[in-house]
Amino acid sequence: MVSDLTRRPIGVSLLGSTGSIGTSALRVFARHPERFVPVALTANGRIDALAEQVATWKPAYVGVVSGEPPVGSGWHRGPACLVEAATHPDAQVVLNAVVGAAGLHATLAALRAGRKVALANKETLVVAGEVVMATARAGGGDVVPVDSEHSAILQCLAGRRPDEVRRLIITASGGPFRTWPTARISDATVEDALNHPTWRMGSKITIDSATLANKALEVIEAHHLFGVPYDRIEVVVHPQSIVHSFVEFIDGSVVAQLGVPSMELPILYALTHPERIEDSGVPRYDPVAAGSLHFEPVRRDAFPTLTLGIDAGRAGGAAPAVFNAANEEAVAAFLEGTLTFGQIPERIAGALEALADRPGRTLEELLEADAEARRHVQSRLSC
Ligand code: NAD
Ligand code: MG
Repeated sequence: MVSDLTRRPIGVSLLGSTGSIGTSALRVFARHPERFVPVALTANGRIDALAEQVATWKPAYVGVVSGEPPVGSGWHRGPACLVEAATHPDAQVVLNAVVGAAGLHATLAALRAGRKVALANKETLVVAGEVVMATARAGGGDVVPVDSEHSAILQCLAGRRPDEVRRLIITASGGPFRTWPTARISDATVEDALNHPTWRMGSKITIDSATLANKALEVIEAHHLFGVPYDRIEVVVHPQSIVHSFVEFIDGSVVAQLGVPSMELPILYALTHPERIEDSGVPRYDPVAAGSLHFEPVRRDAFPTLTLGIDAGRAGGAAPAVFNAANEEAVAAFLEGTLTFGQIPERIAGALEALADRPGRTLEELLEADAEARRHVQSRLSC
């Protein structure tokens, strides 16, 4: 990797280029044109935004999952474009910034082809963590997290042995309802829930941050990435989003990674890992200006989705896939106005009760559990 960084630009296939992570990644590329070049871009709809990116970057491959490509553009169309882009011969790294389980096949295809996957698409690891990590080992590929908490843990762990780790402590902003009375949260509107205090992100992860489903997804993601058992992964609320996570070692020493909340830093680190390069675009951290850092426990009773998700992770098998799919469907229904905020955990709990015991060892079984959970939530939307 060092020689690649110094000799010629790394070809990156950017899946989900029009999203929040996708556009942050393009800003990182724009600051380092000698190091990174997007060789493939994909999006779902938002043709105009994609066309603008294509005009700027002129990638060898362009794919749209849905929507009509411009006439004569040569763009590829349909869900298969994700796998095609992920295995493009010019791409050494695949930055998967797709939202939801839709990103899973592309991650697996890239790993089978021995590519490094810079993974923002955490749902990939929640749906099929064991299959994904086994595929990485078998194919010679690598999964490097983009998620800020996991990037922090990776940085804290650098050079340490797994048996030296006692505990991971993942920070959570607490979302927009951190201080709301429990009874009021269930009636929160879409506008309330989209008003995240510290991060500007896509709508699905913003709702996940309001329910704390996002933290459950991240605990499962950390379990698979770092091989740490669930009883040694904790969550603490930290409203400033400056400390991105902590690792406690067996001697009692605790290491944290800090920085101003910006996804451009974890994106850059995922691309250069295990090296670092100079970057003038990421806002600098000033400890005095940042002021005091505050930590508090999670209000588990007010945010039941967190416990539902972590319990699904502990249960293993199909349960995490069911949790993820039910959450995706419930969030989509909330955003469309057909579920209330308080119904999101209820519908996830219903799907888990009905389906969590399904088999979930193979990819086929996990995909079937995902589909069943979606049907389960959708069929109850009018109830
Ligand atoms: P977003 O909604 O802003 O963007 C999603 C991108 O994926 C878009 O380019 C969209 O066109 C594409 N897409 C959507 N549905 C698709 C489908 N079915 N098939 C193929 N492509 C599809 O989302 P985001 O906030 O950028 O998040 C992307 C991923 O990164 C999510 O998994 C999220 O949890 C994770 N993540 C995001 C942030 C953040 O700050 N935004 C931080 C950490 C992790
Ligand atoms: Mg995160």
